[in-house]
Amino acid sequence: MGEFDLIKRYFKRDIALGATVDLGIGDDCALLSPSPGVQTLISCDMLVEGRHFLSTVQPDRLGHKALAVNLSDLAACGATPRVFTLALALPKVDEGFLEGFSRGLFALADAHGITLIGGDTTAGPLNICITVIGEAPTGSALLRSGARAGDDLYVSGRLGDARLALEVFRGKLNLLGEQFEQVRLAMECPQPRVALGQALRGVASSAIDLSDGLIGDLGHLLQASKVGASLALEALPHSAALAGQPLAIQRECMLAGGDDYELLFSAPTAARTAVRNAAIASATLVTRIGSIDQAFGLRLLDGQGQALPLSLAGFDHFKS
Ligand code: ADP
Ligand code: MG
Repeated sequence: MGEFDLIKRYFKRDIALGATVDLGIGDDCALLSPSPGVQTLISCDMLVEGRHFLSTVQPDRLGHKALAVNLSDLAACGATPRVFTLALALPKVDEGFLEGFSRGLFALADAHGITLIGGDTTAGPLNICITVIGEAPTGSALLRSGARAGDDLYVSGRLGDARLALEVFRGKLNLLGEQFEQVRLAMECPQPRVALGQALRGVASSAIDLSDGLIGDLGHLLQASKVGASLALEALPHSAALAGQPLAIQRECMLAGGDDYELLFSAPTAARTAVRNAAIASATLVTRIGSIDQAFGLRLLDGQGQALPLSLAGFDHFKS
């Protein structure tokens, strides 16, 4: 099958040309008409086999995840996703792979009402690069730089399951069947918090999505906002599967796990009711996990409110 047949068969679909998309796949460019009064938000994420996913992953889950990690970036900014592009390098034309991949990809795209408007297809080592385009009312996008001393710090969902699954795949940890399937789903099928991000516009003072681990990504937010933070270790939300692991592993997975795709955000204490309402409106678990401080740096507090050195928080467990 040639490149054009492949695109037609798996990626070109009839699209309801709406206010946003004037022309989709088929010409040299796609044409969009922006809605009035909005800013366009654009983000791009690449997935490389071996680095971002295991070769054993089911194609439909890979299609889902490739789009999910991109939607997570739009969610962090509070954007409404509109369209996306897909650049694919494929080692060979594997119809089983393409069928599953496109099915998983479009299931998530349809769930968010977004349209594939173009891309590129070439032969090469398996590599997936998606660009997502969204919009938000001008001036309303959530940024990393807005956290202020005294704000509360929150996280969505539960932390650490994706890392737990990875360590089971690596043979470093063991989990029983049902718990393994559950954390594997967290790793292979993350749910981008798009509805929560939109509900937090005008409520949160700053936000970031967690792709590289809580400590690292919180560091980016603190640096951009020029503030510090205190984190209550006991408050960090986690699954029953993770709770069954030794404390050092729990902390390593939650603090430095990576691949969570949850939202980390700050909001003034006066906005606690508004944050709760945003969580309810988006049917998303939201947990208050700490506060923003004037003093730079990150302080980890144990159950008694005592500061724990980062080195005692369970780091470096998986380094070998
Ligand atoms: P060009 O040579 O101008 O770059 P291509 O021949 O690569 O165009 O692509 C033809 C059309 O198919 C374009 O509209 C392009 O956006 C689209 N396309 C190519 N690959 C993909 C893909 N993987 N997914 C969606 N659209 C694609
Ligand atoms: Mg091309």
